[in-house]
Amino acid sequence: MTRYAMVIDTIRCVGCADCVIACQTENDVPLGFARDWIVQITNGVYGDLRLEIQSQRCNHCTDTPCVRTCPTGASHVAEGGIVLVNHDECIGCQACITSCPYDARYVHPEGYVDKCTFCHHRTTKGENPACVDVCPTYAMTFGDLDDKNSEVNKLLTTRRNKTIIPEAGTEPNVFFLD
Ligand code: SF4
Ligand code: SF4
Ligand code: SF4
Repeated sequence: MTRYAMVIDTIRCVGCADCVIACQTENDVPLGFARDWIVQITNGVYGDLRLEIQSQRCNHCTDTPCVRTCPTGASHVAEGGIVLVNHDECIGCQACITSCPYDARYVHPEGYVDKCTFCHHRTTKGENPACVDVCPTYAMTFGDLDDKNSEVNKLLTTRRNKTIIPEAGTEPNVFFLD
């Protein structure tokens, strides 16, 4: 089995947004929309404040409310656990957008819902997602969680890590090192 995941090092990330631009170019994301975005979080207390920068996108969750609520089957889980939207089957009802705790989806101007695909068209050929490839600080790693020798597993076993809003119960497969 394969379970794709992304591990993002918030210490390496400088917030340059190259990942956002690479995604827009690679995936023809229309102007004004994005499949990934940068979030800045201030941690700590006054006198000891630290800025954490996260490159966020769909978490390709293991438990997928977006797939469960989709009435047409357009939202589905593909090989390797990648969550995709079949544009032809999407009626634009936005049930998936309402059920996603991460605001990871948007309505494309052509009427269907769009989101991060983990660059399915590249990763099925053994390539990295565009955002991972372009990162100038090598902050992002993509790989198979079910391969115990994969780089993502090495990072997750040796570095402190977390997911976003774990209490939502969706079991994200995008992890942040801090
Ligand atoms: Fe679905 Fe949202 Fe999880 Fe992506 S982040 S798989 S859109 S629930
Ligand atoms: Fe499914 Fe499209 Fe409706 Fe989302 S907007 S629930 S993908 S039909
Ligand atoms: Fe965009 Fe691909 Fe990165 Fe997802 S994996 S944010 S689709 S470049």
